[in-house]
Parts: sequence; structure tokens; C-alpha cells
Amino acid sequence: MPFTFSQLLRSIYKKCTFARYIKDISTMKVKTFVCNMLHENCYVVYDEQSHEAAVIDPGFYWDEEKRRLGKFIEENKLHLKYLLCTHLHFDHIFGTTFIEDTYGLRVSASIEDSSWITNFGQTVTRFGIKPNAMPRPVGHPLHDGDVLMLGNESLKCIATPGHSAGGMCFHAEESAMLFAGDTLFQGSIGRTDFADGSYAQLIQSIQQQLLTLPEDTVVYPGHGDPTTIGDEMKYNPYL
Ligand SMILES: [Zn+2]
Repeated sequence: MPFTFSQLLRSIYKKCTFARYIKDISTMKVKTFVCNMLHENCYVVYDEQSHEAAVIDPGFYWDEEKRRLGKFIEENKLHLKYLLCTHLHFDHIFGTTFIEDTYGLRVSASIEDSSWITNFGQTVTRFGIKPNAMPRPVGHPLHDGDVLMLGNESLKCIATPGHSAGGMCFHAEESAMLFAGDTLFQGSIGRTDFADGSYAQLIQSIQQQLLTLPEDTVVYPGHGDPTTIGDEMKYNPYL
């Protein structure tokens, strides 16, 4: 039977809004904790239905910060399933030992960044900061393409070397979210002047791995405000 005009319009409308609809019914939520003297963003991403959660880049340095996280986990009855690090720079891992000891998890990250754990005390001291608990080695090595599940939603690992050798982003495709660490910021990109950094590699990672994601993907960076892939394609002066 041929379509009436209104049926045709409705079918086109349905197709266009399907991706948006999936995003709207997504139950993935994000809570931001701004941590330590470098104002690093730690994110707790969780599935509201199953209460499964991942903590990403726990930069908790002071006890008050750790208490705030504990309260949030308790109030929302979350089950912490993963302890993820986008990379292992000290401002992103101050709180890993606390999470490991409190919630019985091990760090999931790229082992390409392991030297940042070995040199943690030395690096922190060079920045004039008193080392807190010493971080432990990576417990679960992550690789490009690995997929982690939170309830029915997935987090895909995307290797984005350049800011550090083991830089990794986490992409929640169904919810159009990207946890970008220090690879991509609102209007900026990560620094590449450390020994394992590479400007050319960082630009390549961003161009090939991140700017190819849907434009409405919300980017949650390691410092500063969230942005979107579309806005960075348009306005980021480094890209
Ligand atoms: Zn960093």
C-alpha cells in the first residue's frame, strides 16, 4: 500500500530522531568531582538502572575530597565496578590507592604509562607537592578497542597517545559521551612537552580517533568545562 504524505513525513522524522531517541532513553549519568591543587576532573559515570559505576581519573588528594566521593557513592547506592585512568599523570591518580583500598578495585589503564607510576614520588616532589599514598602498578591493562560494560551500556577504550604514551579515552556511544582525559579540552589540547609526549601523535589521535565521532558527543575533559566534538571541530584553534 502506498504511503500517504503524512505517513512519509512521520517515517522520515522517525529515522532522523532515532539516534536522539536512543540518547534520550540512555540511563547513563555523570557526576564531576574537581580534585586537588591542579583542579583535575574526576568523573563518576554510572548506569541509573543497574547502579553499576566507573570512577575515571580519581585525583582525590585531600580527605574532604574522598569523603565527598564516599557520600555520593552511598547516597546513590552505586556499585563501583571499574577504576579507570585516561592516563597516569600524578594529578589524575592521587586517589587510586584510596579507591583500591576502599572499594576493592585495581587500576585499569594502559601499561604504556607505567613509568609515571614508577616515578610518581619524584615527579610530584619536582612540582613542589607532598606525595600522598604511593600509587600501585596497573592491575588491569587496557588496550585500544576494549569494551567495558556498565549495566546495558558500554564504554569503549580508544587509544589516543600524544599527551602521554598510554593516553586512553573512554567512549559511551549510546549516551554520546567521551571521557577525554588531557587529550582534548574546550578550545585547547593537552601539553606534549613531557618525555613521552608527542605533538604530531596527539594531533593525529584527535583527528583520527576523536573528531570522527558524532558531532553531538559531549566531551568530558581532564580539566575545565565539558564541550562537544562539533564545537571543537568548529572553534578549537589547534585543530
Ligand atoms: Zn595529564
